[in-house]
Amino acid sequence: MRFLPLLDKFIVGFRDRHRIPRLVLLLGISGGGLVSYSEVKSDPSVTDSSIPRTQGKKRLVVLGTGWAATSFLKDLDSSLYDVQVVSPRNYFAFTPLLPSVTCGTVEARSIVEPIRKLIKRKNDEIHYWEAECIKIDAANKQVHCLSKHDKSMEGKEEFLLDYDFLVIAVGAQSNTFNTPGVLEHCHFLKEVEDAQRIRRSVLDCFEKANLPNLSEEERKVILHFVVVGGGPTGVEFAAELHDFVCEDLVRLYPAVQNLVKITLVQSGDHILNMFDERISTFAEQKFQRDGIDVKMGYRVVEVTDKSINMKRKDTNESSSNPYGMIVWSTGIGTRPVINDFMDQIGQHDRRALATNEWLNVRGCDNVFAIGDCATIEQRKIMEDIFNIFKVADKDNSGTLTVQEFQDVIGELCERYPQLELYMKKKHMRNVADLLLGNKESNQTESKALNIEEFKLALAEVDSQMKSLPATAQVAAQQGAYLAKCFNHMHDSETKPEGPRRITEPGRHRFHPFRYKHFGQFAPLGGEQAAAELPGDWVSIGQSSQWLWYSVYASKQVSWRTRVLVLFDWTKRFVFGRDSSQI
Ligand code: FAD
Repeated sequence: MRFLPLLDKFIVGFRDRHRIPRLVLLLGISGGGLVSYSEVKSDPSVTDSSIPRTQGKKRLVVLGTGWAATSFLKDLDSSLYDVQVVSPRNYFAFTPLLPSVTCGTVEARSIVEPIRKLIKRKNDEIHYWEAECIKIDAANKQVHCLSKHDKSMEGKEEFLLDYDFLVIAVGAQSNTFNTPGVLEHCHFLKEVEDAQRIRRSVLDCFEKANLPNLSEEERKVILHFVVVGGGPTGVEFAAELHDFVCEDLVRLYPAVQNLVKITLVQSGDHILNMFDERISTFAEQKFQRDGIDVKMGYRVVEVTDKSINMKRKDTNESSSNPYGMIVWSTGIGTRPVINDFMDQIGQHDRRALATNEWLNVRGCDNVFAIGDCATIEQRKIMEDIFNIFKVADKDNSGTLTVQEFQDVIGELCERYPQLELYMKKKHMRNVADLLLGNKESNQTESKALNIEEFKLALAEVDSQMKSLPATAQVAAQQGAYLAKCFNHMHDSETKPEGPRRITEPGRHRFHPFRYKHFGQFAPLGGEQAAAELPGDWVSIGQSSQWLWYSVYASKQVSWRTRVLVLFDWTKRFVFGRDSSQI
């Protein structure tokens, strides 16, 4: 047992970043309603009338049961809509604990919550269909769905759902970057089943390497574990695996304990490069001490059934490395259904669906997209610069005073968040600094800008536009925001609350979505974690690991999973991890 000191190793200032999952309680869906699917295979234009409809309510179809969708459903007033949820997964999975499942630190069942149980709390107002959406037909406002149970359904496996509103929250899939052999020979770590497969495969390798009649070289190859991708997931898995091997497996497999090797391959110059530099350095040094071989600046070019072939980026030198097991964790790619939908609506060759700042898919009024499958395309301030000038120039004098601009700055910062970031980055104290430059800002009374001077003053602002990271924290916040909008969408009493429309009269109905960053963690094994917290704090050490335990326990979606996770952690401290292959 390794109970820890109370103080952090050190706490230092930092720069902002992502990654604590945001509180997402769940919600639910109830399996109410009689369903008999239409035979859309033979006539896909038919929607089965037996799919229940609530008269007088707009039909809202939600795709997915992950972070974004469950957060949306939890906060949605489901009595206002006829809500239908489609997802091939009938449970919500707490993905940040998936690396812990790969080595049995936490059991798979402890991090999932059945979606029907969660939606039961919504008075059975939501219908859930266990199926995959295979096509979104925006022109006809329909989604084509395919049941998971296709083999046993005698042609009734496909069905159509009409929608008035569609919320797409299907997440993303692992990205292989078309590297040959990856799909065939590597494990991914995206779903609960992936984590379970990895666990079985690690134990398989140990059992296999322990068999008689093998040479030492052969045993070494079987016990060579390769992790591709030095981001948070790859690093956390490598750390978990190292702990599993050192704390549990070496005692059970003493004959092979010195033959185990873990290699972490990263194409960039550092691992965890989305974190503060001090965290990357600490992680690299810790892994070096632990004997994890960190190969930075290497690109995997091919994986065969026997070896993983890489190239050093600086020298182009090739190497072929025999392996026992590979986990591929190099980022996310687009799901086929989203690619197909993007082609339909003219968003070709993108990584994710483009939405506006209200999470509305560009070009599709009634379709919204949240979570990993979407990205917000922030409007550029320079696109609207003439209109902004016109709106701010109240007396139509053709020039803009500091006071006139001051009157609209609040709304502009809300509509174009890059403006506030820019002023912060350039240490500008006020609007005068922005318009006149820090040196001249004491002449505020006398100075007025013409349009060309105004354009020049704001020319660099759009350089501060940033896309949001693909994290549970973002997905959950988007779900909660969109639910709030849906709850008031048809409420004619409430006045528009958003910023002024710059290109047309009136106001936006709602405030645009604004992401609040609550910090991010990187568990590094051996009861050490790194944390980047709001308020520019970086903390590394054992107390950060305990902060990680408490945050992740508190973010669990139900008391059941919270208790199970706490129980698993305690069990592991007392008895170690279970190494049986079930
Ligand atoms: P998901 O949660 O992936 O949900 C997608 C849903 O859509 C699923 O229910 C899926 O079954 C369903 N679906 C898929 N295809 C279809 C279809 N065709 N039709 C209908 N439904 C479909 N983020 C953090 O903030 N902190 C962390 O510590 C963290 N750790 C992570 C660790 C791992 C191992 C992984 C894989 C991810 C981690 N993330 C973390 C990222 C986080 O999990 C994702 O950003 C988040 O899950 C995105 O939420 P989502 O709702 O967009 O997608």
